[in-house]
Amino acid sequence: MSEFNLIIGGERRAASSTFDVLDPATGEVFGQAPECSQALLDEAFGAAAKAQIDWKRDEEIRRSALREAANKMFASADELGGILTREQGKPLARAQEEVLGVGVWLQYYADLEVAPEVIQDDDFARAEVVRRPIGVVAAITPWNFPLILASWKIGPALRAGNTMVLKPSPYTPLSTLRMIELLNEVLPPGVLNGVSGGDELGKWMTAHRTPRKVSFTGSVSAGKHVAVSAAPDLKRVTLELGGNDPAVLLDDVNPAEVAEKVFWGAFMNSGQVCSAIKRIYAPESIYDDVVDALAAKAASVKVGHGLEDGVELGPINNAPQFERVKELVADAISGGARAAAGGGPIDGPGYFFQPTILAGLTDGTRIVDEEQFGPAVPVISYRHVDEVIERANATHFGLSGSVWGVDVERANAVADQLECGTSWVNAHLALAPHQPFGGFKWSGLGVENGPWGLSSFTEIQVRYQSKI
Ligand code: NAD
Repeated sequence: MSEFNLIIGGERRAASSTFDVLDPATGEVFGQAPECSQALLDEAFGAAAKAQIDWKRDEEIRRSALREAANKMFASADELGGILTREQGKPLARAQEEVLGVGVWLQYYADLEVAPEVIQDDDFARAEVVRRPIGVVAAITPWNFPLILASWKIGPALRAGNTMVLKPSPYTPLSTLRMIELLNEVLPPGVLNGVSGGDELGKWMTAHRTPRKVSFTGSVSAGKHVAVSAAPDLKRVTLELGGNDPAVLLDDVNPAEVAEKVFWGAFMNSGQVCSAIKRIYAPESIYDDVVDALAAKAASVKVGHGLEDGVELGPINNAPQFERVKELVADAISGGARAAAGGGPIDGPGYFFQPTILAGLTDGTRIVDEEQFGPAVPVISYRHVDEVIERANATHFGLSGSVWGVDVERANAVADQLECGTSWVNAHLALAPHQPFGGFKWSGLGVENGPWGLSSFTEIQVRYQSKI
């Protein structure tokens, strides 16, 4: 087993204590992560502040360092993918894709052309809007996609001239620590620092005097605490939070054809995706066929240890999340829902849960109204399109949603009415570095990705030069 370290000022640093990281497919300890103390966190922020003095000066150096960083990731899919599968649970091929995705995101931000914004150039003056880095960034990530979600922060923050201290989730810290170690082979010391620990460490970070921005991805409840903690110091904040994405099927879809895509929109990463489909609305006229098609698909999927050949879905990542999914499914069934597929945990070690399709339930059931974040999805019947739009929007969440229909004009008209950051037609989870990603309402504050994500790591400065 390799040793995992904090990365501070370009150095591997041990902590005086460690905590266990489990393999969710076995429930056994896979590795030890260093528990970052307050003193070490101070050092990490100190190193980031020191490194920023030079890092902010030369954009071309930053762009070429990010290109090298991308190449590092393209060459590290096997190593990092293996660690990611062991601590997160996802199938190895998906874990390797996640690492390659990090490379794609870093490459995108290395290559992104940012045009100068001249807002006045006449006989009186030349005025330009320029973007300046904010300073040191505190970045905090969750356990479902630890690497790619980190890259959504690292790429734009570093390109803009900021430096960073990044903390992964205590459930999946090891792949991130190793990724940061590898990136430090091509980045100047102190530009990107990695620390690991529990929620308490996250609280120290958001309250720390050094960072000028907090970039947070995680749950709504933690996100609200982050916003409060950052407020007294007026730290800039980006929050990427939870979702309860609706998929609205229109009555002209072919249930068998649509089921395959909708299934993966819901069950990718065992449903542990912020913007996965979390409730499916099907019209009464084809409701039974939709449920049957989804159930057949769910029953045919291979669930198992992510390192096994042919596995399509891994376990739930951790015990509390496993208990939560169990509880929400049991609550739905005791309230009268029918498990058309699955319905409970899989016997044996690890946090495995049967891919579950729930039918015969409606809004007001916990698994419809709350974010389940696991491999269990309710299918809800509706009669009229206007009514389903209202129900889809009747939530505090607003991350994304999708509408499925053969008549794309009609589908687009419905998609226009969804209150969420991304509204797909005949797709779900189609994400790309150039698309801004963020949530309405409680699903977030600000966006990541694209030039908009880059702007969120900058302050606007007006450069005004008089000509008279
Ligand atoms: P979580 O909020 O429990 O933890 C996320 C991270 O925040 C962890 O690193 C944790 O240690 C840290 N943390 C927890 N409390 C904190 C606090 N008070 N101050 C500072 N840091 C704190 O979330 P999770 O269970 O790891 O992840 C699942 C959630 O993340 C789901 O709700 C999911 O929808 C959401 N998510 C959102 C996006 C998005 O881009 N919108 C992406 C992935 C996951």
